[in-house]
Amino acid sequence: MNYIFDILYQQSIKAQKKKEVPISALIFDPKNNRIVSKSHNQNIQDYNPCSHAEIISIIKACNKLNKNRLDGMDLYCSLEPCLMCSSVIFQSKIRRVYFATDDKKNGALINNYKLGLKKNLNHRIDIYYGFQEEKFSKLLKKFFKKRR
Ligand SMILES: [Zn+2]
Repeated sequence: MNYIFDILYQQSIKAQKKKEVPISALIFDPKNNRIVSKSHNQNIQDYNPCSHAEIISIIKACNKLNKNRLDGMDLYCSLEPCLMCSSVIFQSKIRRVYFATDDKKNGALINNYKLGLKKNLNHRIDIYYGFQEEKFSKLLKKFFKKRR
């Protein structure tokens, strides 16, 4: 699993080089053991507040597979998804979400809205987090320190 977070880290660095927030995501197909799509935040590039890494990865994967849902697929991301992304994750019926580090201020799966912990929703997602946490949070902290 470590190699997946290495790929995410490369995507985060890519974002940083473009002055985008260094957040990344990818869709993994566990059945075929392959990465279907990968991306990073590109709000500035797209002039679009919805251009979060998770959403871009989901759309890319759906287009690639000619499907409107990602049943059985897993999403890996560098940071706990926000409310907007968490909602799209539920809509796309993703099986599992893995993220490097949680986000106390903006995360919506286990913090704040805690969508990932709700038992009354029509879809359940397995959530795993705390992978290479230090590396990813350092990158984000450095980015925001610079921007201020
Ligand atoms: Zn988001």
